[in-house]
Amino acid sequence: MSARARDLKAQGVDVVAFGQGEPDFDTPQKIKQAAIDALNAGQTKYMPTLGDPETLAVISAKFTSENKIPNCTPKHVAISSGGRHSLFVVLQCLIDCPTAGQPQDEVLLPVPAWVSYGPIAELAGAKVVEVPTTAATDFKVTPAQLKAAITPRTKVLILNSPSNPCGTMYSEAELRALADVVADAAKSVAPNMIILTDEMYEKLVYGGIPHFSIGSIPSVAERTITVNGLSKTFAMTGWRVGYTGTSGEFGLKFIKAMSDLQGQLTTNITSFVYPAIRVALTQCGPEVEEMRQAFARRAELIYSLSKQIPGMPAPRPTGAFYLFPDVSSFFGKRTKKGTTINSGVDFAEALLAEACVVVVPGDDFGGCGANHIRFSFACSEDNIRKGLGRIAEFVDGMK
Ligand code: PLP
Repeated sequence: MSARARDLKAQGVDVVAFGQGEPDFDTPQKIKQAAIDALNAGQTKYMPTLGDPETLAVISAKFTSENKIPNCTPKHVAISSGGRHSLFVVLQCLIDCPTAGQPQDEVLLPVPAWVSYGPIAELAGAKVVEVPTTAATDFKVTPAQLKAAITPRTKVLILNSPSNPCGTMYSEAELRALADVVADAAKSVAPNMIILTDEMYEKLVYGGIPHFSIGSIPSVAERTITVNGLSKTFAMTGWRVGYTGTSGEFGLKFIKAMSDLQGQLTTNITSFVYPAIRVALTQCGPEVEEMRQAFARRAELIYSLSKQIPGMPAPRPTGAFYLFPDVSSFFGKRTKKGTTINSGVDFAEALLAEACVVVVPGDDFGGCGANHIRFSFACSEDNIRKGLGRIAEFVDGMK
C-alpha cells in the first residue's frame, strides 16, 4: 500500500497516508548532538557486543526505577540494532531447533498482533499458536484463554502493551492475572515457559491506564524478558536501537546466550550512538511528553471523527498511535465506482483507488484482523481531518 501511495504521490495525486507506524516528529536535537559529539570525539571503533558499560548501566537503572524489574543489573541488559533485532535474537536464543520426531516449541501469540512476531518466531523454529482475541476485550487475551492455550510444548507467551495494531493496552490487574496463570503453569504443565513482553510504546499512553511491566511481578520476573527501544518514544526509527532487560539468575544466563549469538551476527550497534541513548533515556522527558500530548490529541480527534462514520466501530485508543476499526459491516457492499468489498484488503484498496487514502488492511495481523483496517495517526491533525472526511464520503457512497 505504501509503495502504491508513493507512486500516486509521485504522479502529483494528493494522497492522505495513515499507513506508516513511524512518528512524524524529528529526533530531539540533544540526542542528535550527543551522537555528533561522540563521532567528532572519535568514538568510531568496535565496542562490547551488547553495549558499553555506561549505557548498559543507564538502561538497567531505567528498568529498575521505571519498570520496577527486580535484580536487573547492567549484566541483565542487551542492546541490539532495533526492537525487531532484539526480538529476533531473543527468540533465536529461546526456541530449540526443531528435530525430526520431536514436538516443536510453541509460541503463544494473542492476535491481532504486530506482523513480525509470527515470522520471527517461525524463523527461530517455533510453531506459532494464535490465541484469538476480540474487540469485546479490547483485543486482550483473558486468563481463561491463556490457561486453555498452554501445553507442555509452550515455550513463550508474547505480549505487546500498548499494542500495535490495536491501540489498546493491558491494565496492571489484567497483567497480574495473566502472570498468575503463567506462574501456575510453570509449576506443572509448562515448566520452561517464558513471557516475552514488547513495551516499545510504553511512553505513548493517554487513556488513563498507566503502563505496567509484567516483568516487575516477582512470581514471573525470572521468566520474563522485556524488549523496548528508542524508535517510537524518541522518534528514532532510523537509528536502530532496541534493548532487552531480564532479571536474576535466569537473566544472567540468558543475556550470556544473547551475547554469544549477537557476537556472531551484528556485534555492537553503531558505536557513536551509545551517548545518544544515554541522553534520550535520561534527559528527554520534556520532549517525550510534548510528543505524547500531540499523540493524545490526535487519538481523541481520530476516535471522535471515526465514531461519526456509521459502521466502523473501534475501541478507543489508549496507547501507541493506532486506531483499529472493524469494517466488516461494509462487506458485500459496492462502492460508488462499482467495486465490491468483501474483505479488509478490498476496503483498503478501494479506499486508496477511489479516495486516495492509505490505511493498512488488518489480515496480516491475524485472527479477527481480517475484518479490520489500521490507521496510524502519527500524522498531523489536518491530515486526520482530511482523511476521515474522505472516508466518510467514501462509505456514504456505498450501496
Ligand atoms: N514492536 C512493535 C510492537 C512495533 O510496532 C515495532 C515497529 O513497528 C517494533 C517492535 C520494531 O521496532 P524497531 O523499529 O525498533 O525495530
